[in-house]
Amino acid sequence: MSKAFQVPKNPDEVMKWINSIPMYREDHPYDLSFKSPQEILDVQNSKLQKQMERLEKLSPFYREKFKEWGIDPKSIKTVDDLEKVPLTSKADFMADAGESFKLDMDFDNIMEYILYDVTYTTGTTTGMPSRFYNTTYDMFMLSWMFRVGCKIGYLEPDDILMNLFPFHFIPHIGFYRTWHFAAAAGMTLAFGFTGAPLPGFPHNIHRSMQQAIEDIETKKVNALSGIGSYIRRLIMTAEEQGRDFSRLNKIQALGEPVPQGMRIDMRRRLQNMGAEEVFISNAFGFTEAQTAFQECTELGGAHTGVPEVYFLEVVDEETGKRKPDGKPGLLTITHLDRRGTCLLRYLVGDIVAITHETCPHCGRNDARIIIAVGSTYGTRTKELLKVKGTLINAESMRDAVANTEGVSEYQFIITKERKDDPYSMDLLKLKVGVEKGVDRKKLEAILIDKVQRAVELRPKIEFVEDLSQIFSPDETLKATRVIDERPME
Ligand SMILES: [Zn+2]
Repeated sequence: MSKAFQVPKNPDEVMKWINSIPMYREDHPYDLSFKSPQEILDVQNSKLQKQMERLEKLSPFYREKFKEWGIDPKSIKTVDDLEKVPLTSKADFMADAGESFKLDMDFDNIMEYILYDVTYTTGTTTGMPSRFYNTTYDMFMLSWMFRVGCKIGYLEPDDILMNLFPFHFIPHIGFYRTWHFAAAAGMTLAFGFTGAPLPGFPHNIHRSMQQAIEDIETKKVNALSGIGSYIRRLIMTAEEQGRDFSRLNKIQALGEPVPQGMRIDMRRRLQNMGAEEVFISNAFGFTEAQTAFQECTELGGAHTGVPEVYFLEVVDEETGKRKPDGKPGLLTITHLDRRGTCLLRYLVGDIVAITHETCPHCGRNDARIIIAVGSTYGTRTKELLKVKGTLINAESMRDAVANTEGVSEYQFIITKERKDDPYSMDLLKLKVGVEKGVDRKKLEAILIDKVQRAVELRPKIEFVEDLSQIFSPDETLKATRVIDERPME
């Protein structure tokens, strides 16, 4: 057994925990998230002015846009002035796979501008994934961000972490940032090294989920980082095998929304394998942030952690105007101190709500993304679907089912009542895998009721015996919870 971990419950306990770890105690004076809102704003404004200078001089995309928009970048002196700047869309970014957003070399500061790393965001118009570049300066800043982030999420230098993100043929942030954050905080790192094969590559270089399960036991791993649905499947398999997972006490369940019911389920299974208190964090990450914003308490908000690096805004979907704290809208990110790929008011593609209020749990003053719908942080905008003529929020629908006892896997399929008739009524199917011994009739009634309450649609329930029909961790990165099979109009 490792030492038991107890999640600090209030700002005093958080400070006590920070002071118990020399590295975090020494970092603390430089940690802007604990400073006053005014100090944070002052730093953000002065960083923004320098960033605007860099964009004017070195950004191929923005120096052209400033002329086109008739905006003098020097007139943008405060984060409030940003409201004068038009939004940058995903389409803008994808138009040349992100190339024109990378700053040119600054020959007066070569060391800061050396290209160091590239990760890719999925989804483009041409099929070529868009590139997101980090220079040496950005990588050093990432290291600092990770120290701050690990501190928010209670990861400690003594932790033994397993990286369960897949080693994929396209570099995503999950696999690479996990080793980086572990390194930055001085943790010991083990690897699952799973993933999908590179088509045509002659050898299988990946390891299996089974090997990861065995390593978690034998290497005394106490923390996991990976995609939420993958970690959960691993835990389910380990539970069936009666493994000793008593050391596990911290889970970074990332890459997709992990609603409350899913966390409760994972915790219960871990406790069946001997675990005690388990902190399950669904930090909110995306490529343009290069990190995941950490929770200091489950569901308590996703802390940006480093307000000197990002400025977040929530804007109205229709008008593009900034929305007040607490009101949901489109998330935008502005980089305040970067050298590689730099974005201004970039629409990330999620609907979220933010707050600048002091966090009651930890006492930090950085911006936090808060729960706006169900029990998860963001709804991808593309997940607003029209079914039977009604705009539905896929997140509310998922949340309703994921928080239901007895459900082990699930998937919504939006299809047509008659497959051979594209004009027949839309049909909402819900495939469900169940725990042993569950009363299916009763569960069916509960699910129908919950989904109806969430999205005003009655689902047709189909029980599935083989869970890999819903999600096969060997084939896909994450479980697809909603599939739209209707013919394109
Ligand atoms: Zn907090």
